Amino acid sequence: MTADDLIGMFHCFGCRVSFMACPDCVTTIRVDPMTNRPPDVAIVDGKPVNVKPDPEGAHRSVQQAVCDACVGLRNARFERGGPDAVHIEGIWEAWRDRHRRAHA
Ligand SMILES: [Zn+2]
Ligand SMILES: [Zn+2]
Repeated sequence: MTADDLIGMFHCFGCRVSFMACPDCVTTIRVDPMTNRPPDVAIVDGKPVNVKPDPEGAHRSVQQAVCDACVGLRNARFERGGPDAVHIEGIWEAWRDRHRRAHA
């Protein structure tokens, strides 16, 4: 099996762009289809904040793929810090890095 056999087509939740990634390694987040947000994020005064996950939202939530460009933007926002980053927890790894490690 080559790495190419593992590539699938995804639709990024962040930027809505279609992209190719390894289905085993692609970054995913859980999104509640009713709010279109992760179940542990709420919008307060127009800004996303972390909240205790809504159990119903968590139950409803489905996995959505996130492209590496959006992972990079998110990481950059986390590193800048400030009010825009309070809901961001830690750095995410790009799927390519994960892929390299997982299938090396
Ligand atoms: Zn994206
Ligand atoms: Zn992979």
